Amino acid sequence: MVSHAPRYIVIHHTSTPNVDDYSLARAELLARGIQNAHMNDQGWPDTGQHFTISRGGHILEGRHGSLTAARKGDFVIGTHAREANDYSVGIECEGTYNTVLPPRKLLSSLVRMCAWLCVQYDLDPQKAIVPHRKFNDTDCCGDKFAPTLPRFSNEVEKAVPKLLG
Ligand SMILES: [Zn+2]
Repeated sequence: MVSHAPRYIVIHHTSTPNVDDYSLARAELLARGIQNAHMNDQGWPDTGQHFTISRGGHILEGRHGSLTAARKGDFVIGTHAREANDYSVGIECEGTYNTVLPPRKLLSSLVRMCAWLCVQYDLDPQKAIVPHRKFNDTDCCGDKFAPTLPRFSNEVEKAVPKLLG
């Protein structure tokens, strides 16, 4: 189902190990693993989140059609944040960030992805980018990472004008 532009970009962590394998092959393995878990274990029609970013900074589409919809300013409703799915895009960051921050490669890709989504959806990075814990009782996107999102949003804000050229 495709809907109007979302109001939030919800940041998640996958709660998987902080691997040192930064390859594209690893990113694909991760994305497929999440898809299998969401479809087979949860019984969902597809991956819950819209995008997945690996520790190596590779960005993969999660729920099918997310990228095509975003290019048009629309979004496909996902399953990643209870009560907020109807108006939020979900990005899963590979790893567990309760005691450490994501690697620079992941953060750089996340900045670019968020900046692009803010342009597509005409969102204010400061208001739109929120941790999963804003909506649900969860540690997501990590006790260490989540409090840094306001500072992270500043980086996104600086990246937006470059996209607008
Ligand atoms: Zn989450």
